[in-house]
Amino acid sequence: MAPREQPEVAVSTPRIGVLALQGAFREHIQALTRLGAEAVPLRSPNELAGLDGVVLPGGESTTMDKLLRQFDLQQPLRRQLRAGLPAMATCAGVILLANEVRDGLPNQESLHLLPIAVRRNAYGRQPESFESDIELQGFDHPFRGVFIRSPVVERVDDSVEVLGTVDDRPVAIRSGRILGLTFHPELTGDDRLHRLFLDDVEEAGAARDTEETG
Ligand code: GLN
Repeated sequence: MAPREQPEVAVSTPRIGVLALQGAFREHIQALTRLGAEAVPLRSPNELAGLDGVVLPGGESTTMDKLLRQFDLQQPLRRQLRAGLPAMATCAGVILLANEVRDGLPNQESLHLLPIAVRRNAYGRQPESFESDIELQGFDHPFRGVFIRSPVVERVDDSVEVLGTVDDRPVAIRSGRILGLTFHPELTGDDRLHRLFLDDVEEAGAARDTEETG
């Protein structure tokens, strides 16, 4: 009997790098691991090789920006994301990617990959942290958003898809292969947004395979 042929597209476990310089990276690693992904800390440029996606966690954007440069990660990471590596950015992660950062430090840099303007710590009259149920496009029940000194998205380009708002302000957006969330989905135990991200990662992988073989 002839040996069975291997399926043409091997379904493999996605490998996700979680930027682990500072902030809430452990909880992202746990969420992705629960969903069956291989989640690894990302701290150096050579760890970018072989990743199918990247998570930029919440924390303190000014510190992460400095560390990105100190660890020689800023430009290599930017190149990969520009080339289409899928990313999930939460809270400070959104600030790291925004084209325009308002109320940043004078020397604060961003990767300029999200065509939006964000203002840091801008939920002025709200307490520093609050929770709010968010109706998200494509989800059948609301997602509990945990906001911790979150940035406010003050402007989005037309190309940006808004997936959810709180008080008419975008809190979940998608631009190209970047999913941006101004809250902390990793702190709720609700893995639906990490699932959505892994679906994006899978789709990006399939598109890449088609390009390579087609
Ligand atoms: N306020 C933080 C900053 O400016 C972001 C807070 C967060 O990520 N939860 O970077």
